[in-house]
Amino acid sequence: ISEAEQAVLDEIEAKDVDFLRLQFTDILGTVKNVAVPARQAEKAFAEGIYFDGSSIEGFVRIQESDMRLVPDPETFAVLPWRNNEDSAAGRMICDVYDTSSGEPFEGDPRRVLKNALDRAEEMGYTVNAAPEPEFFLFEEDEDGRATTKTNDAGGYFDVAPKDLASDVRRDIIYGLEEMGFEIEASHHEVAEGQHEINFEYDDALTTADNVATFRTVVRAIASQHDYHATFMPKPIPKINGSGMHTHISLFEDGENAFHDDDDEFNLSEEAHAFTAGILEHAPAITAVANPTVNSYKRLVPGYEAPVYVAWSDRNRSALIRKPAARVPAASRIEARFPDPSCNPYLALAALIHAGLEGIENDLDCPDPVRENIYEFDEAKRDEYGIDTLPSNLGEAVDALEDDEVIYDALGEHVAPKFVEAKSQEFEEYLIDVSDWELDRYLEKY
Ligand code: GLN
Ligand code: MG
Ligand code: MG
Ligand code: MG
Repeated sequence: ISEAEQAVLDEIEAKDVDFLRLQFTDILGTVKNVAVPARQAEKAFAEGIYFDGSSIEGFVRIQESDMRLVPDPETFAVLPWRNNEDSAAGRMICDVYDTSSGEPFEGDPRRVLKNALDRAEEMGYTVNAAPEPEFFLFEEDEDGRATTKTNDAGGYFDVAPKDLASDVRRDIIYGLEEMGFEIEASHHEVAEGQHEINFEYDDALTTADNVATFRTVVRAIASQHDYHATFMPKPIPKINGSGMHTHISLFEDGENAFHDDDDEFNLSEEAHAFTAGILEHAPAITAVANPTVNSYKRLVPGYEAPVYVAWSDRNRSALIRKPAARVPAASRIEARFPDPSCNPYLALAALIHAGLEGIENDLDCPDPVRENIYEFDEAKRDEYGIDTLPSNLGEAVDALEDDEVIYDALGEHVAPKFVEAKSQEFEEYLIDVSDWELDRYLEKY
């Protein structure tokens, strides 16, 4: 038994943990749990815990349904909303193994990200990432179901008394801190009822784990206050949607490989080529980073979300922005298109592979665009050579199928399952008749 594993066993003892939730995600990014009595922790470390994977989205075919969960002791945390004096629940994030081969299961999104990080490591890099997840807090109705009623009329960085949700947000932050998050900042976002909580950057795998945990914690604590927290990208039309800007940098031998003092933007050649790789593969990445029908209602002009494939050191309408960095270690790029409905493991894997491909192929990065691209007409976009992101999930999935780099980034298990699930989702949407149509046409015709 390793030192880290022993530390978990000690903590289970000290904190009276009686149940352990073993956490992993399906390909859609939904967090799944298998709960076991805490006394099985030692066995879980030694042998893993077997479970039937056949009912998990995109995991396995029925006939090969036995999977093994192996908990990562570094991810142990006590759940703050399940922590009483004499009993508590803990959780650990797991890697999924194939029982027949004994190998890591390629359908596990965490594995998909690890593959991307292995590629980076072979090139000499470690990858750091930090997300900025945004979400709405909505009131619940008498039956405890989510409404789209916002609980406040606050705006960007507003404080009390307008920001009535700030006590909910404060409890969420306490909960996250109890689970080991380093919270950098939190604020009311532009839209009514909309919030953002930023946590410190970490290696990309930890960051993806953190995003999965974050969404669970935010929802659980909001619901204790009778609020529904949603990471749906655009719950209300005509106001800002929720994004999950993702900051990325590569480190080499402990130094920030994205920084260059002599460059106009303080970005190294690697950073420029990495950016070029993401721009080149943006339409396909969109299918992964913006994976719902609703995601594309956010990616429209006018609400601080990107629509066009360009980068900028100033303008927030661009797909990628170069944020100001106070110290060389902080030089990084910010991908502004991901939204918080994505599977963070797959989205980071797609971004990283695209960027590394850019470095490997020495791709030229176009000039930054400093004007507001929302205001460009088609002729001006043509002149600047600026493409448009897919305008719906169907187009994005088509782009994914046509892009070998991003399709391969997901791996041969996840890629076809992802395409199948998302094509089906889009087709269902296409044949649905919406409220908008009924309002517009029912009485008119
Ligand atoms: N909510 C915006 C988006 O959809 C971002 C707003 C901001 O963080 N300045 O990306
Ligand atoms: Mg922010
Ligand atoms: Mg924001
Ligand atoms: Mg940002």
